[in-house]
Amino acid sequence: MVKNNKFKKVSFIGFGLINSSLARIFKSKSLADEIMAYSRSKSTRSKIKKLNIANKITDDLRVAVKNADLIILGVPVGAMESMVKEFANDLMKGSILTDVGSIKKDIINSVMPLLPKDVSFVPGHPIAGTEKSGPEAGFEDLFKGHWCILTPTENTSKNAINKVSNMWRQAGMSVTLMDADYHDRVLAITSHIPHLVAYSIVGTVAELEDHLKTEVIKYSAGGFRDFTRIAASDPIMWRDVFLNNGDAVLEMLGRFIEDLTALQKSIRWKDGEALEELFTKTRTIRKGIISAKQD
Ligand code: NAP
Repeated sequence: MVKNNKFKKVSFIGFGLINSSLARIFKSKSLADEIMAYSRSKSTRSKIKKLNIANKITDDLRVAVKNADLIILGVPVGAMESMVKEFANDLMKGSILTDVGSIKKDIINSVMPLLPKDVSFVPGHPIAGTEKSGPEAGFEDLFKGHWCILTPTENTSKNAINKVSNMWRQAGMSVTLMDADYHDRVLAITSHIPHLVAYSIVGTVAELEDHLKTEVIKYSAGGFRDFTRIAASDPIMWRDVFLNNGDAVLEMLGRFIEDLTALQKSIRWKDGEALEELFTKTRTIRKGIISAKQD
């Protein structure tokens, strides 16, 4: 980041996996003169203190955003609107508000109307993460080599987009701009449906009789184990993703169920050709992901 792009005060609203990882980068690369961390719970605040990432820690949203030229929302999507409502009038003139939420359209619709005209909102989504939560789960390399999608509106200033893009590039990400609605549809299929499938398969096992459950856990390396990793993701975060991206998820789920039914038919009819054709096609997708270095 060039010198004049250094922030005076960055305020992290929420300090879990994503925001604490980014804060680590702000600290090590000296991207801001002051790092402020907001967290509602005492236990998280004491963890932040131990980690020694932030210069200041508070449980007061209005104190957190005061005089900050960059504010980064890193809480579950469903909590954002009420939090912004609480601090919107305390935002500094000319400041930039951005977020890291996994869905974009609903956030824009709920947050934008709350903001004073002289504050720029740059909605963002770093496509990187793990199934772990909390400030201790964060690490500096989390974002390296991945994409960050920004979904600015027509009112977002170019200068603010450039500054937020620079910030994510400093974290090792490639940055792309996208329409929010399109983002939500793309992520429904690449992220939300796979999580739903994992939650559903692992949920099915949770309902099995005890003796069968023991066998499943014992022989989990047969594929089930990978689903359990995804299905161990934060329940609140994922509840909010499905509540706030229902339309796109339901649209993609419709397509997925049709394809699953076609597979069911191929198995019943012993149509090996159809099965082989699909399994060959899916291998090509995997190869594409590997060659794009996104595996
Ligand atoms: P996380 O590790 O679970 O941390 C969540 C943070 O939000 C904690 O600081 C928590 O505070 C705070 N919080 C939760 N509910 C709150 C509420 N109702 N009011 C105020 N604060 C609240 O979560 P994360 O994985 O960093 O996710 C944060 C955001 O990043 C989410 O919007 C998610 O969609 C997005 N995202 C996540 C991933 C991923 O893979 N995890 C990837 C990309 C984007 P306390 O600790 O004090 O309770």
